[in-house]
Amino acid sequence: MTDLDTHDPLGSYRDRFVGTDSDLVYLDGNSLGRPLRATGERLRTFVEQEWGARLIRGWDESWFLLPEVVGDEIGRVCLGAAPGQTVVGDSTTVLLYKAMRAAVALRPGRTEIVVDRDNFPTDRYVADGVARECGLTLRWVDVDTSAGVTAELLAEAVGEQTALVVLSHVAYRSAWLADVPALTRIAHDAGALVLWDLSHSVGSVPTQLDAWEVDLAVGCTYKYLNGGPGAPAFVYVAERHLTGDVPLTQPVQGWMGALDPFLMGPSYAPAAGIRRMLSGTPPVVGMLALQDMLALLDEVGMDAVRAKSVGLTEHAITVAAELLPDTVLASPREAAWRGGHVTLNHPLMREATAALWRRDVIPDYRDPDGLRLGLSPLSTSYDEVERGLQAVREVLDALA
Ligand SMILES: *Cc1c(COP(=O)(O)O)cnc(C)c1O
Repeated sequence: MTDLDTHDPLGSYRDRFVGTDSDLVYLDGNSLGRPLRATGERLRTFVEQEWGARLIRGWDESWFLLPEVVGDEIGRVCLGAAPGQTVVGDSTTVLLYKAMRAAVALRPGRTEIVVDRDNFPTDRYVADGVARECGLTLRWVDVDTSAGVTAELLAEAVGEQTALVVLSHVAYRSAWLADVPALTRIAHDAGALVLWDLSHSVGSVPTQLDAWEVDLAVGCTYKYLNGGPGAPAFVYVAERHLTGDVPLTQPVQGWMGALDPFLMGPSYAPAAGIRRMLSGTPPVVGMLALQDMLALLDEVGMDAVRAKSVGLTEHAITVAAELLPDTVLASPREAAWRGGHVTLNHPLMREATAALWRRDVIPDYRDPDGLRLGLSPLSTSYDEVERGLQAVREVLDALA
């Protein structure tokens, strides 16, 4: 243990996660968060007392409303979103599709979707598909892969032709933290809507979606929300797009997003409010684990979580500067511009990552040459960061 752990006010929360008592160094919590110990109990109770005992009655008793109940909790604890605007549904990819289609339909006559070249692959691929399907053009923003989309770059890309801008809050490669309110204002000044992908920030960097006047957002729950592999994503739609004369509609018009699913009517009419973003039967089992993490984040508070996250990434950068002078920091040096991970470049990082995994040190590799250290704030210790970087030093020396 380093002094930093002894004096860390959030240090004791690490014990609440499964596996933190082993010597394994886990630096990939931004790809798959560790499970909470509480989750084992929740899953067992669900099988025995809810699914096993309530059976089909569970839908009426609680499951039917769970997408909205859990969505509102994500909104309250993490997003700065008032109730009624967030719902848990499909994968992030599918929600990106539904949200992009819904958004471009609100801007008829406009011809472009703006997206940056370094956005996460699925965001770029879905935007490309939506553009083709709707007869629109993609306008690419070129960015430095060690940074991200700036106000200047976005201002050059948007105009009266822009229907929608699709951006990530934290860049998956560099951890560049976008200035959401400033970029949202630039898009709005051009008359466009903005869709923010919060996959790499939700649960580590707080947002104020309502105050920042964000239109739409999506995000993952298996990263910093510790929902488990394949846990369903959430979508946020600002209240103003759900009410009024032309409320938003999305293209996958299934029965669970319909006004009255059990009427089994002849045709689809969308549900009032955020429920219209749903399509099929909600993934109830997939929503169990993330409820434990939401309760923990609520207990700790997102500002304290962010402070720990900044402490961990600062420490990683400081130690790397001493131990790994042959690597290049590919993340912003300024904490205010950095999310919850740190990327270090070196020509041997691909081979180094494979060697680290064999030693039970688990970071992630991202082209080009990037070792990505994902520092999940409540389950990662400062000591773990130091042991991880020491292992990187030894592995690079062995490969040299
Ligand atoms: C992790 C991640 C996704 C993942 O999408 P899935 O549909 O869950 O596979 C999407 N976008 C971003 C920015 C991500 O970081």
